[in-house]
Amino acid sequence: MLVQPEPESATILVVDDDPFTRHMLTRYLVREGYRVIEAANGEAALDLYWRDLPDLVLLDALMPVIDGFEVCKRLHTMAPGSPAPVLMITGLEDEKSVDQAFEIGVADYITKPINWAVLRQRVRRLIAQHRLEQQLREANYQLQQLTVIDSLTQVANRRRFDEYLLQEWGRALREHQPLSLVICDIDHFKHYNDHYGHQAGDRCLQVVAKTLSQSIHRIADLVTRYGGEEFAIVLPNTTLEGATQVSDRLVRSVQALALPHQMSPTSAVVTLSCGVASLIPMPDYLPSDLVFTADQALYQAKNRGRNQFRAIYVMPPNTGQSVNVMV
Ligand code: GH3
Ligand code: MG
Ligand code: MG
Repeated sequence: MLVQPEPESATILVVDDDPFTRHMLTRYLVREGYRVIEAANGEAALDLYWRDLPDLVLLDALMPVIDGFEVCKRLHTMAPGSPAPVLMITGLEDEKSVDQAFEIGVADYITKPINWAVLRQRVRRLIAQHRLEQQLREANYQLQQLTVIDSLTQVANRRRFDEYLLQEWGRALREHQPLSLVICDIDHFKHYNDHYGHQAGDRCLQVVAKTLSQSIHRIADLVTRYGGEEFAIVLPNTTLEGATQVSDRLVRSVQALALPHQMSPTSAVVTLSCGVASLIPMPDYLPSDLVFTADQALYQAKNRGRNQFRAIYVMPPNTGQSVNVMV
């Protein structure tokens, strides 16, 4: 059974070129407790739709300039997700008109003269159905998010990393754009866990993940939890120089948190080491080459004393040099 909507919380857009019909519909629906907005033609209807995003559209079929069929078509093209349902109210009763209406996506159809009791039930049912669909879509979205978000740190998970790296690799390859990857690893985190306990370790991971996310500014940059205490950051359309600036910021921002780490052999606070790799994807390379190179750079950063980044630029294959290391 459908849950009946609270009428007063629903907005209905009434579209009819005949002022008398519009007036009658509005009066009836307002009495039923709905909020009503009115349009006298198709153009005004589309404008009002985008401005107010109503829960239901009562639409006359025959109107000058843009008729009801065209309005309905445009709603479906412009709002591909799921536009508000359209209830067509019209004097057209022939089979062709009815078929055409359903083909272009009207949710229901009633004929003039209006049977008010029927209208009342159809309006209620369509609004309730639309709300259920919206709730379902939202729930699906949340479920889908759960599969790509790391539950501890709330940044993207490893699965999302694999997916995103592949996607951005493909894009960079097609567009001959640079692609950079930063792998970050918390320094001496085993000592941290051993000394402060696993729960404190978890909290530290959460704080570090949040700091990394806040240090990333471009919309296409993606912070992911790569594994245990490692984070991988994909930087599309970013050169080695850009990626080193980002890494410098990441290392500094974690140090600036000043989270005490009494057991660290290299610092009194929690610190981060980063390995940066950058290249312009070529058919001869694979995304795993970028990961491998970033890992090598990370290894160097660890060896050089931690709390720093190292960067490696992967040269194009035809230059004779495989990799070119820089600070
Ligand atoms: P390094 O500076 O060389 O990176 O040393 P490290 O101790 O950080 O590196 P190692 O790989 O030896 O240890 C990583 C530790 O991270 C092991 C484990 O105790 C901790 N760790 C990994 N995942 C989690 C997690 O989900 N929660 C907590 N609390 N700790 C984790
Ligand atoms: Mg590690
Ligand atoms: Mg570590």
